[in-house]
Amino acid sequence: MTWFLNLHLLGVLKRKIKEYLADKADLADKISIISQICEKKSSKSLIKAEWFIIFHYFSFLKLKTIFMLLDLLFPNRCLHCNSIISKDELVCEICVPQIKFSHYNFYEENPLKNRCKLLFPVENAFALMEFEQEGLSRKIIHQLKYHSQEKVGKILADWTAERLQFSEEKPDILVTVPLHPKKLKKRGYNQLHLYANTLSKHWNIPHHQKFLKRNSYQKAQARKDKLHRLETKYDFSVTENLHGKHFLLIDDVFTTGNTMNTIVWEILKNPSNKISILVMAIDV
Ligand SMILES: [Zn+2]
Repeated sequence: MTWFLNLHLLGVLKRKIKEYLADKADLADKISIISQICEKKSSKSLIKAEWFIIFHYFSFLKLKTIFMLLDLLFPNRCLHCNSIISKDELVCEICVPQIKFSHYNFYEENPLKNRCKLLFPVENAFALMEFEQEGLSRKIIHQLKYHSQEKVGKILADWTAERLQFSEEKPDILVTVPLHPKKLKKRGYNQLHLYANTLSKHWNIPHHQKFLKRNSYQKAQARKDKLHRLETKYDFSVTENLHGKHFLLIDDVFTTGNTMNTIVWEILKNPSNKISILVMAIDV
């Protein structure tokens, strides 16, 4: 547990350093502008500005070294067996078969499509994984949502594209469940955006990131009890009046389907639209 906590703290530390480095890059631009102004005024202030630049340049190098050392001391590890893996992986090759992929057929009846059909009209549906409380799929989704691991979205998208190719009708637009601006600020990213953007490139289908808008703020779904979850009211709206389109609506985990339900009926206010569903995992 302590080891896990340390790893989490290191993840946060690494992110903070990254943010600091990004800030410094901005700072370098600002310094160069300042020094240009100083040049016109006096050579004394120019020297001061140069020293300022040199000082920050070395701080930047020092931080870069610390960052490299952190990577060496605390390398990326497999979520399942803890063995060392490359930076862009989540689980080692040996543990990949431990992930409970759903193997659903997008165009045929499957458990996700059946559950959606009870709530709203749906064309097709696909879930990448089956969500198990003690399983690897839960760990993966938690890395993406609660451990600042935005890159997980790209890995999941690559896995999805390997398993879902559009042999028949292809959706026209990818849309993602939005976060409320307050929550987006808190997390720093929408966990679905990198996933959808990567899929957009794989499938050559545009991702309309701002099509949906969330109007109310609420605490994380996964941390609420089931009863409260059922009582939650959702409030979404569409930002553009599109018609005659086949939407592929994307979310992370399908549990009660309440979120999807509200969004789908918003989109279907224009009855010429069609909906298919894609989730990273289905709570079975
Ligand atoms: Zn492993």
